[in-house]
Amino acid sequence: MSNKRKQFAVIGLGVFGSTIASSLAKMGYEVLAVDRDITCVERIADTVTKAVQADATDINELRSLGIGEFDTVIVAIGNHLEESMLSVMNVKELGVPYVLAKAKNKQFMQILLKIGADRVVRSEKEMGERVAKSLVRKNIIDIIEVDNDYSIIEMKAPASWIGKTLKTLNVRSAYKMNILAIRYANQEKLVLSVDPNYVIEDGDHFLVLGETEAVEKYDYLIEK
Ligand code: ADP
Repeated sequence: MSNKRKQFAVIGLGVFGSTIASSLAKMGYEVLAVDRDITCVERIADTVTKAVQADATDINELRSLGIGEFDTVIVAIGNHLEESMLSVMNVKELGVPYVLAKAKNKQFMQILLKIGADRVVRSEKEMGERVAKSLVRKNIIDIIEVDNDYSIIEMKAPASWIGKTLKTLNVRSAYKMNILAIRYANQEKLVLSVDPNYVIEDGDHFLVLGETEAVEKYDYLIEK
């Protein structure tokens, strides 16, 4: 990953777009926020680096904003396919390497991918899945996706691990997890060197790097 600070532009400042824009700005990133509705622009003006009224279906307006220089552009127009399509096409035409678009259904998603969006999110669907998983999570406390396949996970020691060692459990090959650190029961501090012969106690927490799918399946589906 490059050290250069990424620059983001968000087009469409409904709830989804403005939340992305203000979240990125709060994390210290440079964010240009664009909407054709001046009310939406004014609402976010104090939060982001720059907020501008423009129509993203007009490539010349986008060009004059320098959209082509951004690393990532988020097209957060979910309800109007034509506007969304033209915006994605324009942004790609201007040379933006990564365009994330929002779609309200599967058909919109397929069309937006076809015309060049690099990633399309269906926010309602993805949120529904996340909420469902959070309701049935047994041991996972937190999960950070590193890329499409791997995540770093904080988890409670599953009941079936208690009284055993990482060595006898053969965690790496049996669970496809690499243990990075341990937080011993009732301790605050994370300890980075984990002894494979340590006998796991109830309440121990592990920080692990693992295949997201394998770890999630294990957590949700297996009786412990
Ligand atoms: P919602 O307000 O329900 O999220 P949309 O997802 O359709 O509705 O639109 C999100 C935002 O995108 C709105 O604030 C709208 O003004 C803006 N928008 C729609 N079309 C364009 C466009 N061509 N250029 C810039 N912003 C647009």
